[in-house]
Amino acid sequence: MGNFVAPPYRIKMVEPIKQTTRKEREKYLKEAYNNLFLIPSEAVYIDLLTDSGTGAMSHFQWAALMQGDEAYAGSRSFYRFEKTVKSITGYQYIIPTHQGRGAEQVVLPLLTPRSGMYFISNMHFDTTRAHVELAGARAIDCVIDACFDIDTYHPFKGNMDVEKCLAYIKKYKADNIAGIIMTLTNNSAGGEPVSMKNLRAVSALAKKYHIPLIMDGARFAENAFFIKQREAGYEQKSIREIAREMFDYTDIFLMSAKKDGLVNIGGLIAIKNDTAFFQTCQVRTVAYEGFPTYGGLAGRDLEAMAVGLKEGMNEHYLRHRLDQVRYLAEKLKHAGIPIQYPSGGHAVFVDCKRICPHIPFDRFPAQSVCNALYLEAGVRGVEIGSMLLGRDPETGQNIESPFEWMRLAIPRRTYTYAHLDIVAQAVISIYEKREKIKGLIFEYEPPVLRHFTARMKYE
Ligand SMILES: *Cc1c(COP(=O)(O)O)cnc(C)c1O
Repeated sequence: MGNFVAPPYRIKMVEPIKQTTRKEREKYLKEAYNNLFLIPSEAVYIDLLTDSGTGAMSHFQWAALMQGDEAYAGSRSFYRFEKTVKSITGYQYIIPTHQGRGAEQVVLPLLTPRSGMYFISNMHFDTTRAHVELAGARAIDCVIDACFDIDTYHPFKGNMDVEKCLAYIKKYKADNIAGIIMTLTNNSAGGEPVSMKNLRAVSALAKKYHIPLIMDGARFAENAFFIKQREAGYEQKSIREIAREMFDYTDIFLMSAKKDGLVNIGGLIAIKNDTAFFQTCQVRTVAYEGFPTYGGLAGRDLEAMAVGLKEGMNEHYLRHRLDQVRYLAEKLKHAGIPIQYPSGGHAVFVDCKRICPHIPFDRFPAQSVCNALYLEAGVRGVEIGSMLLGRDPETGQNIESPFEWMRLAIPRRTYTYAHLDIVAQAVISIYEKREKIKGLIFEYEPPVLRHFTARMKYE
């Protein structure tokens, strides 16, 4: 367990971070109304709020930034970016967007020409679900049941339940299914991977019923590495080859490049070969993101993405990346802390329902555990549970989430194993005094997206 895969890079620029005293943290948390989103990042020692856009760029990326061509139309940087994405995906049409949700807001409404339609996914990510609903469609999740059995090992907990998916297609009729979305890795279920076999089966189903298959592939490279490690027949294949087979099965690729693209901002749309669909996407991109050769980004951002997408598929990098997550997960599991096991590609998900059975769901156990962890060591995680879910729009009641997660997301190429040791110690230490953790109630509750700006207090 003590073993780890050392980083395949050395550090050439540092950003100081500061450990605070418990007294200072108590003050910060109080001033932030017990909501970690309202704490300045300078008051955080180790920030595991998200792995999105929080990673470190390489010196190759920083050098590429200087070559940005800032032309409004047809910039050199666009062509370089386009060539890279074409070579990875084999797709014909590429459009940059400002981030993942930019790609969603362009594509998803175009797949939803009328009301009463459905998207089926292994599991919709929050922003994807939001854009499905904004487009007037309904979002259905069909992840395999093994995903919910957090203690039992399964190599591909992100898989789609193909039988369940087929049953929904039959129930709602293929014509009413706007698309099937495969989220790789399955972010909301713990960054759990999807197997090639599963993707192949879903692809066959989509083809049979003439339903477009979309890859929501923010972490396609991490998913490919799990396939290499865990699926028979892929041990000798390169990440590029594995990724290419994944892309062969899908028709449209949406990506938040803030994840496996190793950039601080950026996203993309790639379309396999549907020319008419590409043209309508281009038109919509102009209205919402920007001219289709820059998509809301600077030319330099496109340069950094072109380099980052390739570095994100480097096996030495991926081996270390996934090992950091495993390292933290195993330390916690070894100490008896309930987590989604095995851990996925970008974060450790801690089950706070089991840590704090004395806190009911509408007193937000995971939020309370996150606050306790911050007070303990200045580590910031994030609640993914009933706080995030909000209220039922019809009844006004709090919705109970099946899980109350504290997600500890690990930024790419940013922290060392020593930082992870501090995180593990802090989680173990609050676990040992878990009975003392108290639930939270609202002092102010915003009507939408309440977790970002809510003011909370202890009962
Ligand atoms: C992050 C993410 C998105 C949204 O991307 P943003 O860059 O945050 O807008 C969509 N889908 C998945 C699976 C993601 O992880």
